[in-house]
Amino acid sequence: MQLPKSIKIGFHNYEVVFPHDDPQNEYLGDTYAPNNMMRISEYSNNKKLPDSSILQTLIHEILHAIDSKSDLDIFAGDRKEERLNGLAHWLCMVMSANKELMDLFR
Ligand SMILES: [Zn+2]
Repeated sequence: MQLPKSIKIGFHNYEVVFPHDDPQNEYLGDTYAPNNMMRISEYSNNKKLPDSSILQTLIHEILHAIDSKSDLDIFAGDRKEERLNGLAHWLCMVMSANKELMDLFR
């Protein structure tokens, strides 16, 4: 699977580092807002991740970037990661199930 090398989020171009597999890091992805960079893993526990997991991680990190750059603290409070994951999952489902909708943005 290939991911875009960069994604525009607001005024910023985020560099997408993929694959980024760090055996010391248990996370599937991370976002570093000051440098406009996100890193996405291709493997977990020495096994290649399914494309659906990689895409969900990408959307999850995009939501982190939006949250950070907007300064709205959209996901403040308890269970931030779980709420982000839930929203990322549902966004992926809507985008994958509605190609005609996504084509409207081209
Ligand atoms: Zn997260």
